[in-house]
Amino acid sequence: MAFASPADLSPIPQAEAPRDCPLCPRLVRLREELRAEYPAWWNAPVPVFGDPEGWIAIVGLAPGRKGANRTGRPFTGDYSGEIFYSTLLKFDLAKGEYRGDVDDGVKLEGAVVLNAVKCLPPANKPTPEEIATCGHYLEAALANLPRVRVVVALGQIAHVAAAKALGLWPGSKFAHGAEATALDGRVLLSTYHCSRQNTNTGRLTREMFEGVFERALAFKCPR
Ligand code: SF4
Repeated sequence: MAFASPADLSPIPQAEAPRDCPLCPRLVRLREELRAEYPAWWNAPVPVFGDPEGWIAIVGLAPGRKGANRTGRPFTGDYSGEIFYSTLLKFDLAKGEYRGDVDDGVKLEGAVVLNAVKCLPPANKPTPEEIATCGHYLEAALANLPRVRVVVALGQIAHVAAAKALGLWPGSKFAHGAEATALDGRVLLSTYHCSRQNTNTGRLTREMFEGVFERALAFKCPR
């Protein structure tokens, strides 16, 4: 089966990893295993999705095995996508109807979605080395999104990766609702990740998640 390259699907192709990015050997091994087992899945670095002129960038942890790793679009096809896209739709950051499928026609408006780590990590746990290695792609992506004024990080790993990319690390501690401003004026806002584990245990409620996006709206700038 022939797949597009991540750059072909990205609003910022110049900042994307190649489909066979070799930089994280452990993640490459898992990718190769899954390509053999599930040849119809994406099984590659997941590209940035959304509006290249966006004012808000949302940074997730890494692709989920049956979510973005399968479909090729961030937060698409697994549980966290439901709350994620319904929140974007509620705040007019997306248009369309999310159906968990890359062909559902959802378009982001003013928003762009990235991951701290572009490839599926075993047990959803990238190593510090993998986070640091893929952090170069996160930095490149943010550098190629000049209209972004606020970065919303989903979970601690995304928070640390985004804080490093914005020059806010060390010093900016993770907490739900944490807020810090970088020297260039960009704001980092953080929330617990919208994973099934966090929502099922009540650690993160829909109101808490939406509250962070409500706060982010304060930084919206006109086009
Ligand atoms: S996680 Fe990032 S740096 Fe590592 S192999 Fe994937 S695309 Fe390359």
